Amino acid sequence: MRVTWTAEEPARDGIGERVWRLTFLLDPEDATTGVCTDGQRMELRTNSCHVRLPPADPAAPYARRGEPYVHPDLLAVAAWTVAAPWTRRRVTFDRPISPELAEAILDGWGIEAGPVGERPRTGSRLAISYSGGADSVAVAAILPDAPLVHFRRISHPRVPNRWTHYRADVLARLAARTERELSVVRSDLEFLLAYPRPGYPEHHAVAAGALLLADELDLGGIAMGYELGSRWLGGDRYLHRYTPDNPMWAPEGMWGRVFAAAGLPVVLPVGGVSEAVTMRVALESELRDLVRWCLRGSGDGPCGTCGKCLYKELIQAAVERRPLATTLTAKSAVARKWQEPPPYGGQEMIEYGCARVPGIESTPFARAAELLGATEESTRWLDHCYPPAIEEIPEPWRERVAAYMEGVGLMTPDECARVENWGIG
Ligand SMILES: [Zn+2]
Repeated sequence: MRVTWTAEEPARDGIGERVWRLTFLLDPEDATTGVCTDGQRMELRTNSCHVRLPPADPAAPYARRGEPYVHPDLLAVAAWTVAAPWTRRRVTFDRPISPELAEAILDGWGIEAGPVGERPRTGSRLAISYSGGADSVAVAAILPDAPLVHFRRISHPRVPNRWTHYRADVLARLAARTERELSVVRSDLEFLLAYPRPGYPEHHAVAAGALLLADELDLGGIAMGYELGSRWLGGDRYLHRYTPDNPMWAPEGMWGRVFAAAGLPVVLPVGGVSEAVTMRVALESELRDLVRWCLRGSGDGPCGTCGKCLYKELIQAAVERRPLATTLTAKSAVARKWQEPPPYGGQEMIEYGCARVPGIESTPFARAAELLGATEESTRWLDHCYPPAIEEIPEPWRERVAAYMEGVGLMTPDECARVENWGIG
C-alpha cells in the first residue's frame, strides 16, 4: 500500500476550508476486499478522498504561524484508518514516520510501515469526537471545557450518493448550536466503501479530522463516546462476551497503540458506564435539546421509525420511567430481531429497558422481554461505573472523570463480576 497526502490550495468556495487529498495505491498483494477490525466484511470502491478542515482561527493562541504543519504520524494514522483493511504486507507513507508508530503497526497488524525517521509528537489538550448522539453529548457534559471536533459526511465527486436521506447537515447544525469551541471537518471518506454501504472503513476514521487538526489545536488526546457495551461487553461484534482485550478500544489494543504512538491516545470517558447512564447524563445536560442519534430525521427531530430510534427510545423510556412512545409494532421490519431469541447486540440495554419500561408486553420488545426475564435487580449494575474503565484513562484527565463517576456510583465487586462474566452461563 502506498499512501500520499496532498495539501491543496484553499477552495475558492467562500468557506476557506483547507483541503487535504488522500490517495492510496494498492500493491500487488493488497486486495479490494477486507475486514474491518469489528469483523465486518467490506469492499473498496475507490482510492481517493478528501478531508476538509475549517479555516484556521488566526486569533487562536495555539494557531501556528506560517505554513500549516501536520506531523507525519498524524497524517499516517489518518490514512491508516481508511487503508488498513486492504493492506496485506507493507504500507509506505509519503513522509517518514516515527519508529514508535511503525512498531505499533507492525505489532498490531503484522504490516511493515515506513519510511521511518521522524520524532514522535506530543500535545496537551483533550478534544471530543462529537457526533451529537447521547454518548458523545454525555462526554461533552462531563468535560465542559474540551473542544469539539465534528465529522460531517459530504458526497464524493466520483461516487453517486444514494443516501441523501442521511442528514449530515442537520447534525452539523446541531453541533454548532452547542456554543462550544467547535471544528466541523467535512469528508467524503465514507464513500470509499462499495460494500456494505457508505461508512467508516474503520471506526477510527471518524477521527481523521481530529488527527489532521491535532497540531494546530495542540491536542494530546481524543475523547470518544464509546460506552460500557462497546468497550467491555463486546458491542455488536463479539455479541455477548467480556472483551478486556477489545482490539478497537483497549489502550493496549492495536488501534489504541497506534493512536497513542501519534501522541493522540483514544480516551473513553464513558467507557465504564452503560447507555442508560450516558442517556441520563445527556438528558440532564444543558445540551439536552441538541441530542440526536438518528441520521435520518429532518430539522424537526429524529425519524422515530429506524432501528436505532427504536433501540434508543427503549433506553430513554426506561430512564424516564414511562411507556414506550413508538408507532412501530412487532411486525415492523426494524423490530424483527426482537422477535427472535437472544443473544442480541447491545443485549444489556435490552434487558435494562425491558425490566423498566411500563407496559413492555404491548411493545415490539414483548417477546424479548419474555425470553430475557430481566428485572430491575438483575440490571442494576448498569446504573454504575466499572472502575477498570477509569484506570484506562490517561493520567492528565483521569482524576476529573473519576470524580464525575464517583457521583454516578461505582460498581460493587458483585456488579463488576456481572461485567466480567458477561455471556458466561
Ligand atoms: Zn431514526
